Amino acid sequence: MADRIAVIGAGQMGNGIAHVFAQSGFDVVMIDVAQAALDKGRDTIAKNLDRQVKKGTITDADKGAVLGRVTTATSTDAVKGAVLVIEAATENRDLKFRIFADLDAKADAGAVLATNTSSISITEIAARTRRPELVIGMHFMNPVPVMQLVEIIRGLATSDETTARTVAWSRAVGKTPVEVNDYPGFVANRILMPMINEAVYCVMEGVGTPEAIDTVMKLGMNHPMGPLTLADFIGLDTCVAILEVLHAGLGDPKYRPCPLLRKYVAAGWLGRKSGRGFYSY
Ligand code: NAD
Repeated sequence: MADRIAVIGAGQMGNGIAHVFAQSGFDVVMIDVAQAALDKGRDTIAKNLDRQVKKGTITDADKGAVLGRVTTATSTDAVKGAVLVIEAATENRDLKFRIFADLDAKADAGAVLATNTSSISITEIAARTRRPELVIGMHFMNPVPVMQLVEIIRGLATSDETTARTVAWSRAVGKTPVEVNDYPGFVANRILMPMINEAVYCVMEGVGTPEAIDTVMKLGMNHPMGPLTLADFIGLDTCVAILEVLHAGLGDPKYRPCPLLRKYVAAGWLGRKSGRGFYSY
């Protein structure tokens, strides 16, 4: 029988994680508080599989088989039987703390509890459970089916065995894991977010238009996309949340979120997912 894994949250990241595990032969249950999010998550997986069929990388039959391995649920009772639970709910400390206390109570003894958090302390999340040695960061990149990297973040109490199993699962879904330690923002966002924030300051101060700033970084630094385009992909609310974690956790004012970024989020301009951010979609 295939190993069963559970994904908490069916948003941009959750449905991508469900997609890659199902495509690699795992049985996946995707769990969200909102039925609408589950429906949208499944639609997104189907659309992304269609794209793979069109490209000729998979067949129609493969698509059916992958979708057949993804079930959905609105209760975390469905984590029973999973060897690995990956949490990809909204980036909010208190929410994740609540989710992990609940997962600890409901998941099988011995199941690894991973979080896809972009910035929240793995050590603190693990402390909400009675199994901190089985808690780890498994930070996938967006869009999950396309991006190679999984940043594997060890909390203070994470065991060598949990790390080794998580590295093996990452390889099993065709990704390249990189191990790092638990400090605010880890490596990816510690470096990326200050760059995005600085690009937003450049917009606010009128140094350049979003198009000009993105073009400078694309053509001048050989980045595949500019920082503002990338911020729209990530979600501007998520960018603010990560910067707040860096600011609070490291205490250096250089990490304070740009007021213009906060203003966009206040207006509901969250990037691609809301149809408008630095660009319109
Ligand atoms: P999203 O807003 O697209 O999705 C979040 C989902 O979580 C929503 O469907 C929401 O209904 C669900 N949710 C909220 N509370 C829940 C609960 N108690 N139980 C189950 N589901 C719940 O957000 P996203 O972009 O998918 O981000 C999810 C996580 O992944 C965050 O921790 C984020 O920091 C991280 N992350 C995001 C990116 C990115 O580029 N967007 C990249 C790497 C990691």
